[in-house]
Amino acid sequence: MTATLRIAQDLIRRPSVTPDDKGCQDLIADQLIPDGFTPQFMNFGEVRNLWLRRGTQAPLFVFAGHTDVVPTGPEENWVHPPFSGEMIDGILHGRGAADMKGSLAAMVTACQRFVQAHPDHRGSIALLLTSDEEGPAVDGTVRVTETLSGQNETIDWCLVGEPTSSEKLGDTVKNGRRGSLGGTLSVRGTQGHVAYPHLADNPIHRLAAIVRELSAAHWDTGNEYFPATTFQVSNIQGGTGATNVIPGEAKAEFNLRFCPDSPASSLKERIESICRDHADRFEIDWSPLGAPYQTLPGTLLSAVEDSVKAVTGYAPQLSTDGGTSDGRFIAPTGAEVVELGPLNRTIHQVDEVVNADDLDTLSNIYEKVLDRLLT
Ligand SMILES: [Zn+2]
Repeated sequence: MTATLRIAQDLIRRPSVTPDDKGCQDLIADQLIPDGFTPQFMNFGEVRNLWLRRGTQAPLFVFAGHTDVVPTGPEENWVHPPFSGEMIDGILHGRGAADMKGSLAAMVTACQRFVQAHPDHRGSIALLLTSDEEGPAVDGTVRVTETLSGQNETIDWCLVGEPTSSEKLGDTVKNGRRGSLGGTLSVRGTQGHVAYPHLADNPIHRLAAIVRELSAAHWDTGNEYFPATTFQVSNIQGGTGATNVIPGEAKAEFNLRFCPDSPASSLKERIESICRDHADRFEIDWSPLGAPYQTLPGTLLSAVEDSVKAVTGYAPQLSTDGGTSDGRFIAPTGAEVVELGPLNRTIHQVDEVVNADDLDTLSNIYEKVLDRLLT
């Protein structure tokens, strides 16, 4: 078994369901301290974060990742116990194998090989690890970036280890993520008898008209890197249960995944104006915003694309789809942010797996990125 696989297996054997780190960050620190990395733990509430830096000079390359995993669901549904880290026929099994303990292990060994070959590399390397990426993400990466800016540490390039590959390792890298904007819309009416509608005001009818218009709306056309903004309703609620009563209130929960061409403020204004066209009495309770980010072609993106090509023989595709990632907290500091990790086919599922060879290949790609940027 290679060093990368051994570390990945050790990490999987720690059941670090959000926000519990279960010693994963200590394990990584123990691996890298002998190679000249200095740890700084930044714990907020139940969340553990680790900033591990080697060097004091610019430019600063950062690998960002999370040690927490999503819950397993009923363990008896797994073919192999989710925290056993079993390796069978070249496949490493377990919760977090792909998202993202495999990437963490690949970067740890990439750093070890790189600094042993280039002890006097230019600039600095750091790992930014959190145990709160899969959860509320309130005390994780966002708090670390605040602390770093207080220490005058500026990230130039950030590689995020999220599982971005779809069919084969490195076929897709992400150079941005859509934003996420959601909320609960409550429309108020006047309760009454269905036989006397002139004495009532049906909020379900008003809400239906609003949903119809919002779901048909054209928000933008997307751009070179982003698909067009989409709107979806996830839950709808209204009615007293009685068939002869017009209810007094109806609610819908909605979410937009949006392209950076449409600022959240303009989306909000447009939604509110459509609501006003159909209802006088309504309220929108907005959920915390997931900001989008976009990294244009530049030093980091070229280094990642070249490294994938050099190691695998094929060039990766750029993509901005999927959910949000912690890249959204790092990009606003001015850093170039790119995401590259293993296949995402089994993430968050029962029987999550990663291909053992893929982790070794990923480690070689990560090492090549360090080579391109810091030698
Ligand atoms: Zn992840």
